Amino acid sequence: MHHRKLIGLTAPSGTGKSSLAKRVLDEFPSMNLSVSVTTRPPRPYEQHGREYFFVSVPEFERLITEKALLEYEEVYPGRFYGTPLCTLTEAETPLLLDIDVKGASTVRSTYGGFFIFIAPPTVNELESRLRSRGTESPDSLKMRLQRAKLELTYADRFDAVVINDSFDEAAKEIFSLIQGYLDK
Ligand code: ADP
Ligand code: 5GP
Repeated sequence: MHHRKLIGLTAPSGTGKSSLAKRVLDEFPSMNLSVSVTTRPPRPYEQHGREYFFVSVPEFERLITEKALLEYEEVYPGRFYGTPLCTLTEAETPLLLDIDVKGASTVRSTYGGFFIFIAPPTVNELESRLRSRGTESPDSLKMRLQRAKLELTYADRFDAVVINDSFDEAAKEIFSLIQGYLDK
């Protein structure tokens, strides 16, 4: 049994979840990000061990076999993402998870915690944010938009929903939800 506070941010790709997660970590210096393992290639600004641990598919499969992952999902075809189990068991501070809707459901039902679903103002805005981020190939963009439709149907399974229209407003709303959970 772990006694750490667990905060999850979950949202369709392009909603602004990673940007909001960074703001949360600045606002709550005692909180740490749970760095996931993934088989997708790093984006130019990403660093191994900071945003993710980037591994090959065989390495990821080895982690599954060794039961080193608390949960994992093939979020997109051939793209695996997982939460290292040791991050949770060794945590001595509140942990922030940036996690897809399925992984979030699994962790929430197994370990509890407080999960916030972040929604885009509209699907068109989601698409334009993903495009303007400039990180996705046409195929990857298509996959992410396709998956977003399923992800949006998960909104009511979590503890709160925040619409990321104005970034600063959404951040403030998230800070106050998290503070409420930490104070409990
Ligand atoms: P995610 O982690 O959910 O995929 P990101 O944090 O990478 O999303 O954000 C996707 C893109 O949208 C980024 O280019 C980011 O700067 C931009 N963005 C995030 N929030 C907003 C917002 N409220 N309004 C406009 N653009 C935003
Ligand atoms: P991205 O490729 O945009 O960084 O992430 C794609 C999706 O995978 C996002 O919804 C992100 O939250 C999710 N994700 C990141 N790490 C994990 C993880 O460890 N487990 C699960 N299930 N999803 C994750």
